[in-house]
Amino acid sequence: MEPFLRGAFANASTQYTRGRKAREAVEDARVEVGRLIGAAPTEIFFTSGGTEANNLALRGVMEAEPGAGHLVITSLEHASVLRCAAALEEAGHSITRVPPAATGAMEAVQILGANSPRPRLVSVMLANNETGVVQPVSSVGSACAEDGVPLHCDAVQAIGRLPVDVTTLQVDLLTMSAHKLHGPQGIGALYVRDGTLLRPLFGGGAQEGGVRPGTQNVPGIVGFGEAARLARIELETRMAYVDNLRQRLEEGLWRSAADAVVVGSKVPRLPNTSLVCYPNRDGEALAANLDQGGFAVATGAACDGEDGGPSHVLQSMGLAPNIVSGALRFSLGPDNTSEEVDSLVRAVSKLIGKSAWYRRS
Ligand code: PLP
Repeated sequence: MEPFLRGAFANASTQYTRGRKAREAVEDARVEVGRLIGAAPTEIFFTSGGTEANNLALRGVMEAEPGAGHLVITSLEHASVLRCAAALEEAGHSITRVPPAATGAMEAVQILGANSPRPRLVSVMLANNETGVVQPVSSVGSACAEDGVPLHCDAVQAIGRLPVDVTTLQVDLLTMSAHKLHGPQGIGALYVRDGTLLRPLFGGGAQEGGVRPGTQNVPGIVGFGEAARLARIELETRMAYVDNLRQRLEEGLWRSAADAVVVGSKVPRLPNTSLVCYPNRDGEALAANLDQGGFAVATGAACDGEDGGPSHVLQSMGLAPNIVSGALRFSLGPDNTSEEVDSLVRAVSKLIGKSAWYRRS
C-alpha cells in the first residue's frame, strides 16, 4: 500500500502516468479479490466496507424494480443487513426474518419454506460473526437458482477463513470486507454476478462501472488485493493452524469451568471463532478484566456492543438470559501462538474461579 500513500499517490481515474499506474494497481487487486472467491474481475465492485456492500446488495436489488417486493433474511444477520431490511420494510417492502435452530444453524428448507410471497431477494450470511456457525448457503443457492430468485450472501466473516467459491455457493451477490482477512480497514467489495439487476446507491461518476461511483480508495484497494492473494495462498495452512489453537483454547476453558457452554460446537463453524458462555457470570465484567490483562476479548459483536443490549444472535437461538449474559467471544488468528492461548486460559480460569464475577440479578 505504501507507494500509493506516498510518491505514487494519484487518482485512478486520471489519464496521466501516475493515475494510470494507480489504475493498473486497482485492476490487479480486482483480479486477486475475484480469484479468492472464484469470480471474474468484472464482477467485483469495491466499496467502503462490508456495511456498504450489504446495503448496496439489499437496496440495490430490492429497489431495482418498481413497487414493493419481498425480502427474506435470517434473524442472525449483521446489523448492516438487519437495519437495512428494517428501513426497506418502512419503505413498504415486506420482510421475512428466519430464526435459527438452537445450534445456531438452519436448514435451507426453513429459509425458503418461510417465504409465502415470491422473494425479490434472499440474503443469508455464510458464517455468523458472533458464533462462527456456518449456514447452508449452497443448498439455499441451488433452491434459489431453481426458482430464479437472486441470493445475496454476507461472507465478511468467512472470507480468508473458509474456502469460498461463488459458483459452488450459487450466490448472485456476495459481501466482503478487507479487515477481516488482515487487510486495511474501510475497504470492502460486493461481488455481483453478471446479469444481476442492481440499482446503485449513489449517483455519481463512472468509477466501479457506475455501480459504486466516487474516487477509489487506491491504497485500501491495493491492500485488500494483497490480503486476498495471501489469504488464497495460505488458506489451508491458516485454517489448520487456528483450528488447532482453538481446540487448545476450548479444551483449556472446559477444564477450568465444567458448566462452560461452547456455542455451535456440534455444527460446522469457522475455525477461528469460539463463543463461550459462562452461565450466571457477567461476560462484560470478565471481558473488561481480560482487557486489563492485555487480552482483546469481546462479549459479542462489536456492533451489538455499541447498543449495549444482549446479543440478538444468542437470543434468537433461544439461549436463556443467564447464559447470554455470560458470553465471551474469542477470535484467533494466524499470528496468535499456543503460549498466548495458554496464558489466556490461565487468565480466564483465574477470573472464573472468583465468585465476584457471578452476575447479580
Ligand atoms: N457483516 C458481518 C458478518 C460483519 O462481521 C461485519 C463487521 O464486522 C460487517 C458485515 C460490516 O463490515 P464493515 O465493518 O467492513 O462495514
